[in-house]
This record gives sequence, C-alpha cells and structure tokens, in this order.
Amino acid sequence: MPRRKTKVKDIKTIKGMSDILPKDEKYWFLFWKAAAEVAELHGFHYIETPILEYADLFELGIGSNTDIVEKEMYTFETKGGERVALRPEGTAPVMRSYVQNHLGYFMSPVKLFYNGPMFRYENPQAGREREFHQWGFEIIGEYDVVYDFEIITMILEIFQKLKLGDLSLKVNTIGCKVCRPAYRTKLKAYYRQHKKELCDDCKRRYERNIFRLLDCKVPTCVEITSKAPTIYNYLCHTCNQHFKSLLELLEDNNISYEPDPILVRGLDYYNRTVFEIFHKDFNFALAGGGRYDYLFEVIGGRPLPAVGGAIGIERVIEVMKKLGINWAGKNKNKLFIIAVGDQSKKHIPKIMAMLRQNGFIVLEALGKKSLSHQLKAADKAGVNLSLILGQKEIFEESIIVRNMKTGVQETVLQKQLVDFIKKNIK
Ligand code: AMP
Repeated sequence: MPRRKTKVKDIKTIKGMSDILPKDEKYWFLFWKAAAEVAELHGFHYIETPILEYADLFELGIGSNTDIVEKEMYTFETKGGERVALRPEGTAPVMRSYVQNHLGYFMSPVKLFYNGPMFRYENPQAGREREFHQWGFEIIGEYDVVYDFEIITMILEIFQKLKLGDLSLKVNTIGCKVCRPAYRTKLKAYYRQHKKELCDDCKRRYERNIFRLLDCKVPTCVEITSKAPTIYNYLCHTCNQHFKSLLELLEDNNISYEPDPILVRGLDYYNRTVFEIFHKDFNFALAGGGRYDYLFEVIGGRPLPAVGGAIGIERVIEVMKKLGINWAGKNKNKLFIIAVGDQSKKHIPKIMAMLRQNGFIVLEALGKKSLSHQLKAADKAGVNLSLILGQKEIFEESIIVRNMKTGVQETVLQKQLVDFIKKNIK
C-alpha cells in the first residue's frame, strides 16, 4: 500500500458529520432519559438494527424515486461484492428485523423503540447533517387510529418532559391505494399547466413522484402549490374516517394541531396519517412520522399495518440549547475525593465504593500528587463538597469534608459520612 502523505493531526471529521463532545453530554443524557421513560411508560421494547444493511432494503422500502434513495444514500460495494448502504432511516430495518426474527409471534401489536445514527448525503446546513441521530417508535400489527395517536402523543410527551414549550403539530393524510390514484391524476393535470415554471427537481419529480411537488420549498413551486387541489376531496370513506378520528382524538385530548394539506414527507412508504412536529422558533421539523401499512408488502411480506415516528436528536438539542434548558440536578450528589499521601490512596477505593453504593457520583484526580492540584480539579468540577483523606484521618477512621463555596472544613467519622453528606450536600 502506498504511504499516505496526510498527518493524523490534519485529519478532521468528514463533512456533515461531527463528534458529540463532553460539553454536550448533559443534553444527550436529558434527552435519552426523557425518551426512555416515555418508552417504558408505554410498554415499548428496545430494538437496535445494524448500521449497514443491504441497499435493496431501502431502495424497495423507501422508494427508488425518493430524494433519499436517489441522492442521499451512502451505498457501496463490500470486498465480498455485496451492495450495502449506511442506514438513512430506521423504519425499514425494523420491519426487516420484525420478519427475520418473527417478532409478531411474541406480542401484538409489536411496540418498539430504537436509538442511533442515520446517514444521508445531504447538503449540510443548520439542522441538517450527513450523520444525525434519531430516536424512533414503531407500532406494528394494527390499523386502528389509536396507534397513530399514541405515536404522536409519545413524541409530544418527550418534548413536554424536556420543557421544549412552543410546539406545533402538523398533520395530514395522504390517502391509500384506493383513493390516491384519482388524486394523482388531478394533481398531474394541475401541475401540467404550470410545468414550465417548476424548478428542475420538480420537473423531474413530475414524472416519477407527483406528490413530492407539494412540499418543494422553491418559492415559484410554493406559489404554484398554494393553489393545487388538496387530497381532502378525493379521500375514500375509510381514509376519511381514519383522518377524522385522529383529529377527534387530538381535540378530545386537548392537543392542538394544524391540518397541513401539503405535508407529504420524503419517504414513499407512508399512507394515511403523516405528521411533523416543529418548535415555533425554528424552521426545521423536530420529529416526523406516519402510517406505513404497505411497507411490509413492498419488501416482500404480507399486508401488515404499522405506524411510527422519529425524533431528530441533534435538532432537539439545538432547541434545548437555545432555550437554555439544562441539566437541572447538575451537582446533586456529586462529590470530589482527595488523597493526601500514598497511604491514603490505598484506603480511598473502599470509601469511594461505599459512597457510590449510596448513590453519590464520586470524582477524583488521584493521579495528581499535591493537595492544591487536587483542590483545583475539585473546583473545576463544580462540586459543592470535597472529601480529603490524609494520614491523620486514616488513623482516626475519619475524613475531612470541605465546603467548596465557603472553604469551611469539618472532620467526620467515616461511618457517619453518608448521613453527614446527605444533610450537607445542597
Ligand atoms: P425522517 O426520517 O425524514 O422522517 O426524519 C425524522 C426526523 O429526523 C426529522 O424530523 C428531523 O428531526 C430528523 N432529521 C432528518 N434528516 C435530518 C438531517 N439530515 N439532519 C438532522 N436531522 C435530521
């Protein structure tokens, strides 16, 4: 192999991908905690699928005329000649796993959640990365609208726990195999009159995927679409009922929503319900999803109803940062332990273990020899209390507890330490 000229220090992350750094861990932890609590409260089970799948899964499942498959997939051939792709989304892999592992035999409906990175070769910009993380929910096995409602409310519950505040829920229906053909014909006829004014992408989409013209963001197309016929006049009875019932459920439960007739979403597999959730101060969606009763058939199975949604975690974190939402109990239960002298280092692990068993987070800088260096590290860690163990304390089976704000120190017997800390940690 020829030697590369690049030095390691010159290598940076790939465009559109970034490291998640310790400075942001508080946001990630808060998000995961809220999302995991909601998943558990609703009786959902955890699933994680591989990041690499056969490319066919997405080409069939998401649809070969979608932007994701046409332009955004990281597809490549392995050394063994397999055509694989980095997953651009989580639903098709979950469906693949459902079939492969016969998950339907174990529960009905199957309620699953996943959490992990997705990859799309998009133009990076604010809120749009090439690697991003999604938390997703899927309910497989039921046509009932209560499950569309459950997916939407679960996402809202997470956002509520995170106190995201001003949200807007956009909902639409995109019909089904029965009612979509008539609407497609009507749309085609409408856009045909404006074909010359459409953007290049829409000219292409006109032939292959007419519904995608509805959510094009190019101003001339937006203007044309504002007068386009809506699907509401073409819905079959079942789709109409389904949509009506969803809106009633939302109203009965005081969840405000905006019907959005041009919301179609970028994946082909949806039918009936589609939704997106926004924060009022941001122009990107924090979450989106819908019903996908045909996906299973498309990837080679029997008819199997399902509904799901996914949250873009980076986008949620951006909102949290902007709103100043932070780690509430940041220093709660956090202690710093300091060893003075080599003997003390031998005794300290036992004390640390005892404190951790009692639920305290114990930090240290035991690699530093001097007391002043360790105290500096304690200061940086932002703890309220530090514990100092020296020669004398080992002998007395005590420890010094230092209040980091006032500098006041007290010597406490080790067997009374936990009670003492509990009283004094605030
Ligand atoms: P989708 O899988 O397209 O339905 O997207 C679900 C959610 O994932 C969106 O509402 C966004 O919050 C997030 N998302 C999708 N694409 C990106 C991206 N390129 N960068 C960051 N977040 C994204």
